Amino acid sequence: MSNTEACPCGLEASYLSCCGRFIDLGAPPQSAELLMRSRYSAFVRANRAYLLKSWHPDTRPDLDQAELDRGEWLKLEILTVKPGLKKSIVEFKAYYLEAGMQRCLHETSLFKKVKQRWHYVEALAE
Ligand SMILES: [Zn+2]
Repeated sequence: MSNTEACPCGLEASYLSCCGRFIDLGAPPQSAELLMRSRYSAFVRANRAYLLKSWHPDTRPDLDQAELDRGEWLKLEILTVKPGLKKSIVEFKAYYLEAGMQRCLHETSLFKKVKQRWHYVEALAE
């Protein structure tokens, strides 16, 4: 995928002018929704370093690069956003292929600001 192609997060912009600003150029996403979108794009690009950087230090897992490389992501839909100054909640659906079948991850996620930057914390229970 080239940097001038449409961004995988679904916004109508090129990768470089959308999530690439955050992933490759290090700009801080101004909202939890933009961080969520950039994390999806980072999953598409199997960018382990960015996923770890944007994960809250309290919940940051070990990520397996081989597993990221195997991911086949299709589409992201942001359903609802509850914005806040230090805490935000984003509900989304992310579609992916598993053994040739389309599957959907439906998650409501908690995001928090740490040192002025949004971080993904965890999935909230339904
Ligand atoms: Zn994007």
